[in-house]
Amino acid sequence: MSLIVHKYGGTSMGSTDRIKNVAKRVAKWSRAGYQMVVVPSAMSGETNRLLGLAKELAPSSASMSYQRELDMLASTGEQASSALLAIALQAEGVESVSYAGWQLPIRTNSAFTKARIESIEDKRVMADLDKGKVVIITGFQGVDEHSNITTLGRGGSDTSAVAIAAALKASECLIYTDVDGVYTTDPRVVPEAKRLLTISFEEMLEMASMGSKVLQIRSVEFAGKYKVPLRVLSSFTPWDIDLTEEARSGTLISFEEDEKMEQAIVSGIAFNRDEAKISVLGVPDKPGIAYQILGAVAQANIEVDMIIQNISRDGKTDFSFTVHRNDHAKTLDLLKSQVIPELGAAEVVGDTKICKVSIVGIGMRSHVGVASKMFKTLSEEGINIQMISTSEIKTSVVIDEKYMELAVRALHKTFDLDQDKA
Ligand code: ADP
Ligand code: ASP
Ligand code: MG
Repeated sequence: MSLIVHKYGGTSMGSTDRIKNVAKRVAKWSRAGYQMVVVPSAMSGETNRLLGLAKELAPSSASMSYQRELDMLASTGEQASSALLAIALQAEGVESVSYAGWQLPIRTNSAFTKARIESIEDKRVMADLDKGKVVIITGFQGVDEHSNITTLGRGGSDTSAVAIAAALKASECLIYTDVDGVYTTDPRVVPEAKRLLTISFEEMLEMASMGSKVLQIRSVEFAGKYKVPLRVLSSFTPWDIDLTEEARSGTLISFEEDEKMEQAIVSGIAFNRDEAKISVLGVPDKPGIAYQILGAVAQANIEVDMIIQNISRDGKTDFSFTVHRNDHAKTLDLLKSQVIPELGAAEVVGDTKICKVSIVGIGMRSHVGVASKMFKTLSEEGINIQMISTSEIKTSVVIDEKYMELAVRALHKTFDLDQDKA
């Protein structure tokens, strides 16, 4: 019988009643004859609670020793929820065993708080599955080569589940969450958003990387690399609904582009409030300035997203880029203390009140004028565009954060995403 991986998010695991419900659903799949591996997140709020405790004791620090303890701490949330689910399954009369990542092990690199999975040992899991047990594996974590516990970044249980599905060659990975699939945009921001029956892998990758947190980006990357069939669906349906119906619900992340051919030019809208803009003003316009500015930033391990350089006037230019909001202060400090004096630039300014809004769709490849339709809509709403970036299947703009919802709603309408597709 085929092997299936289920992943349950924090809200789905949010109380003992919800855990009981998850156990009943998993028991249903197990009794139907599937080999079951389940990857739970921590109970909702738990990861924030734990990280909050750390902050109460000492302000966050980039030091390796502090970051190591954050992982030691945050990983316990998933350990607790995994054990609780195993207990709930045993109470349902289903044999079940839970493992923390390090017990298998799930090996990662040593980048605390954002580690990457390198390998997964499947022997113990396969042996338990062969004995008919349901195996529960903690999401979000692994262990590095020095036996330090690591975590995979916020939302990382999605990645654990897909990586485990790939390693075990599961026939499908089902991501159960608090919405019933992937929508044209976050349904909490636009209530008219529509659920997509399928979304192409490439579009899902862009949606996730542009800020839709319904799937962590690395989980989509894994799914693409190892061709893991992936579906997002609701954990809030009654646990005893027909299994075949459940297995077809939600949104399928599809690898077949053909299915999408006749669909909309724009499939979805993503947004993200996690970035900050840095502008270096009055930079002497000569070869090497981009390298001088961004080289220093990269050396400090700060990731840069969008970049623009203006045309020069009187031999001077302005240079702007975006970084993660958590890196904003660090980037400003670095530029002020090192780069500005060397460059002889006039000034550096930062802005944390920005957001990035992106339209995504593989249909954009074959249609011109999609980006200009986006710009027209924003101009009609009186929203100023600060930066633009495009790829084959997406256009992103940086705007003032206070217009985010207005922009997303207006674009959702412009591209007919609130219309039912026949
Ligand atoms: P979980 O705890 O199950 O991992 P998350 O909170 O990480 O759940 O992700 C689910 C949430 O993602 C939804 O509640 C929804 O608000 C948000 N979301 C953002 N963009 C989308 C989208 N395009 N489709 C569906 N949900 C989205
Ligand atoms: N518990 C972790 C978090 O809150 C991982 C996850 O939920 O996927 O980010
Ligand atoms: Mg999540």
